[in-house]
Formats: sequence, structure tokens, C-alpha cells
Amino acid sequence: MKKKELIFIAGILILAGVLWLGFQIAGKRSHNTIRITVDGKEFGTYSLSQDQIIHIGDTNVCEIKDGKVTMIEATCPDHYCMKQKAVDEHGGSIICLPNKVVIEGENTAEDSDSESSPKIDAVT
Ligand SMILES: [Zn+2]
Repeated sequence: MKKKELIFIAGILILAGVLWLGFQIAGKRSHNTIRITVDGKEFGTYSLSQDQIIHIGDTNVCEIKDGKVTMIEATCPDHYCMKQKAVDEHGGSIICLPNKVVIEGENTAEDSDSESSPKIDAVT
């Protein structure tokens, strides 16, 4: 009887732990995403919490590492996009004008009306 109770309690604790972990991962993911667009069309959204290398068409390659994304390869003549500041969870953008590639940090915490009213910290 007592052993059964212990197993029951242990089961609940494990379940709670799994749920908690799930929320941590889900929460992290929703706040750290980037969106890549090519020629104004959405190419994809990616999580900054997962290190990976993304090939954007045939022209650009970006790398997500340590929660930051940088352009590591580009066919454009100026390579200006490779010198731009990394995009992290605070947002920002990397733009490759010749290839029409845009990498934008997304802040989904404010995605309720970010489409209609982009956040601009204008001092008026
Ligand atoms: Zn470029």
C-alpha cells in the first residue's frame, strides 16, 4: 500500500517536472525567434535557442549560435550583410540588399498588434 502511494507521488512529480520543462522550452522558443524573408516573401522562422546553419536559397547562409544569428556567407559583392551586427533576442535585423534577404529578430511578446503598429521608440 505504501509503496503504491510512493509510486503515485513520484509519478505526479515526474509529470510536473516534464510539464515545467515543456513550458520553459515553449516559453524560450516564443521569445527568441527570427524571421527570414527573401524578396519580401517569407522564407521561414527559426528559433534562436537552437544552434543551426540555415541556407537561404542559393545566395546566403546564416548561422544561429549562442542565441545570436549572423550572416556567414553571401554572394553579394559588398558582403555588407556579413559585417552587420548580430540579431539576438533583443531584435534587430540583417539586410542583404543585393540578394533581397532580410533577417529580422521577432519579439513575439508583443505580437498582439505588431503587424498594425510597429514599435517605434520615437521621442516626440
Ligand atoms: Zn549581402
